[in-house]
Amino acid sequence: MPELPDVVVYIEALERRILNRKLERVRLASPFLLRTATPPVSDLQGKCVESLRRVGKRIAIGFQQGYWLVLHLMIAGRLHWHEGETAAGKRLAPRRDLAAFDFDSGSLVLTEAGSKKRASLHVLQGAARLRALDPGGLEVLDASFDEFAARLTSENHTLKRALTDPHLMSGIGNAYSDEILHAAMLSPAALTGRLTGAEIARLYEFTRKTLLDWTQRLRDEGRNSFPKKVTAFREGMAVHGRYGQPCPRCGAQVQRIRYADNETNYCAPCQTGGKLLADRSLSRLLKQDWPRTIEELEAMKRR
Ligand SMILES: [Zn+2]
Repeated sequence: MPELPDVVVYIEALERRILNRKLERVRLASPFLLRTATPPVSDLQGKCVESLRRVGKRIAIGFQQGYWLVLHLMIAGRLHWHEGETAAGKRLAPRRDLAAFDFDSGSLVLTEAGSKKRASLHVLQGAARLRALDPGGLEVLDASFDEFAARLTSENHTLKRALTDPHLMSGIGNAYSDEILHAAMLSPAALTGRLTGAEIARLYEFTRKTLLDWTQRLRDEGRNSFPKKVTAFREGMAVHGRYGQPCPRCGAQVQRIRYADNETNYCAPCQTGGKLLADRSLSRLLKQDWPRTIEELEAMKRR
């Protein structure tokens, strides 16, 4: 699922292409994509883009008269940009293409691989409606240490759960939480209520550093082109998606905890004092306080 760094880089690429440009036509290939009935999506046609914003892991495109078009890519949704006016006439590929937004500068096409269609589109009017879509997670890059510590310890959760719960932290999912915890040398199964001040300070520092470093890295990789290789498994990640491969810090094999259709990766010597997170008491704990699936967490209602 695209997380904060991916979404920020998507938004920057979109700003260069559609800010102050007119949306001429919206083409929806799938009736399941649009999750709102009013205002009708046709209201957006003929309006110019005034701003772009990230709301959690969503991309919000702001139009004249307070309209918002909000995209959630979920796991397999991706955006593609086709330059120029002629792109607007291009037919949508059945099954893969979900929608096209034809601007006077080019066409933005939303695709989703696989048969499970989870990506969503909301059309809203007014800032209050936009805020209602925000699960309310803390923006760690804007937050002070005290705000971060208060939010982190507001409920007692495993670190893996706390970081990936969109109601607690904004924009962090399975991939970057693995990277953050490895960088901070903290166990994904550690309970937030038992962390020391020094551990929380380390987590704050490395949450920010990991998100900022990766955003810059993706920016540098893409230069001025539209993001193409958006994936949860990136070359250069320390542990995420690297089960069995050597930890770049200590050389030990990267471990995993599997759950649902996901897994968490960590390095035992670096993060858990060498302990493998697979014994029975831990499994019980993890069952109660683990991201069941990231999608389930995303879908949970605002508390
Ligand atoms: Zn290691």
